[in-house]
Amino acid sequence: MHSFGHPVDLDALSTLCQEFHLTLIEDAAEALGSFYRKQHVGHKGLMSILSFNGNKIITTGGGGAILTNDEQLAHLAKHITSTAKIPHAWQIAHDQIGFNYRMPNINAALGCAQLEQLPGFIEKKRKLAEIYRQTFADIPYADIFIEPKYAKSNYWLNLLMLDKNCLHLKDEILTQSHQSGIAIRPAWNLMHHLPMYSSMPCMDVSFAEALVKRIICLPSSVNLLDNINNQ
Ligand SMILES: *Cc1c(COP(=O)(O)O)cnc(C)c1O
Repeated sequence: MHSFGHPVDLDALSTLCQEFHLTLIEDAAEALGSFYRKQHVGHKGLMSILSFNGNKIITTGGGGAILTNDEQLAHLAKHITSTAKIPHAWQIAHDQIGFNYRMPNINAALGCAQLEQLPGFIEKKRKLAEIYRQTFADIPYADIFIEPKYAKSNYWLNLLMLDKNCLHLKDEILTQSHQSGIAIRPAWNLMHHLPMYSSMPCMDVSFAEALVKRIICLPSSVNLLDNINNQ
């Protein structure tokens, strides 16, 4: 998963996958327009996904896309996401369990228009991230998360990383911001902290646990930059 639009270290991950005979599947839902070593994310895995949900970098209202270079898998994905009906002039026969996950034409049309705007959106996202970075540069107790060296990120969502010694201020910061009309958020919960998964086996993820406590998600809409420019 390319969290918050920042590519994971795909080379390192695929080495691990080879070593342990695992299939790599990239969750690039948040990472349309992000690059790993000059290549767009979504190329390394056997399959990858993008999301066009309302909160993502571009939207079709809902839905997403499956990416793969495996022709057979592509046909299978197309088949079972469009009710698994065998093509025929009049017969209505389905050859396996299928799903109606087709993107309606109206949503696809919206997506085409959104795609045309993607370069502009990403430029604005990156500018906004830079403004945040500069604004918080002199504040000792928090940093803006910046893209890894190997990556060019879309900065889908900007993250303020609280210093480990300031975690007790997090609730206060969230409360005060909301009272001032600034909708900042904590990070999503880790899966193993969700009640329905809490009894599942879980490895040591103390690094993620430490990170998630520090994260505050900042407003990151491209419209924000328009507002700044208009002032
Ligand atoms: C949004 C998101 C999804 C789900 O995408 P939907 O289009 O809402 O189903 C999956 N993974 C990540 C990392 C996401 O951010």
